[in-house]
Amino acid sequence: MAQLKKQHSHAHRLDNMRLPIVAMPLGLAIFTASAQAVDFRPSIKDQIKIGKEASAEIRKKEKVLPDSDIRVKVMRQLGQQLVAKIPEAERKKNPFEYSFDVIDSKEVNAFALPGGPIYFYTGLLNKMKSLDEFAGVLGHEIVHIRNQHWASQEGDRMKRQLPLAILLTIVRAGDFAWDLAGLADAVLIGIKYSQKHESESDRIGFDLMTAAGYNPQGMVDTFKMLSAGRKMSDFDRMLSTHPDPAKRAETLEARIKKEGKVYPPMRPLPFAPQPLPAATPK
Ligand SMILES: [Zn+2]
Repeated sequence: MAQLKKQHSHAHRLDNMRLPIVAMPLGLAIFTASAQAVDFRPSIKDQIKIGKEASAEIRKKEKVLPDSDIRVKVMRQLGQQLVAKIPEAERKKNPFEYSFDVIDSKEVNAFALPGGPIYFYTGLLNKMKSLDEFAGVLGHEIVHIRNQHWASQEGDRMKRQLPLAILLTIVRAGDFAWDLAGLADAVLIGIKYSQKHESESDRIGFDLMTAAGYNPQGMVDTFKMLSAGRKMSDFDRMLSTHPDPAKRAETLEARIKKEGKVYPPMRPLPFAPQPLPAATPK
């Protein structure tokens, strides 16, 4: 409200100055045209900051397993192995702060926050049988961060709002910056990646997991498992934010067949596929 008032008074001042209002649309058109070449994505630093803020909120609300839990330990080992397969030059250029945690919840899902934090739910781990399945989903989530999917969407959104943003910049005399707190809230409300980004994460996640010595059949198995559970309410959220898992399994299977590569045999998860009691410090 206060902001609206402020703009209003500025507008009046502009009127009083007899600014040639007709020149505005032309100016906006030029700004809009040149904006095509501008990168509107939040910076790597901002992505990390927003991801950390969102992560802190999650930790307040969810039961995050302790570092000593075997599932967390395995996840971190896998995570390090996969991240190590990202070229070093790229990691130096985009120093994302990857972190790997498990939330104790029945939800059959996993998610990535901008800049590095990745969370798996025990509900998903309990449905998995192999390290290769774990590595497949982890690779997928890492690529959402590595390829800045959230930031790309934010950038596109900013670009669409550009005429308004410029108007506000003019009226508010350059007082235009990322509202980091607001963005962190938006991240929590729901990260919804586009189909294009989901496919990209599948494809490059496949590259990462196979480079680290895992069998991509694990990724196929995961999508088949998710597809088999379609009717369960647990899957509702997963399905509403992700493309059809049966189709994704098919795409990956076709690639494995086409490439004809031999992969190491799948390895079982080194923990029981049942909820373990959270480790309690003695
Ligand atoms: Zn995804």
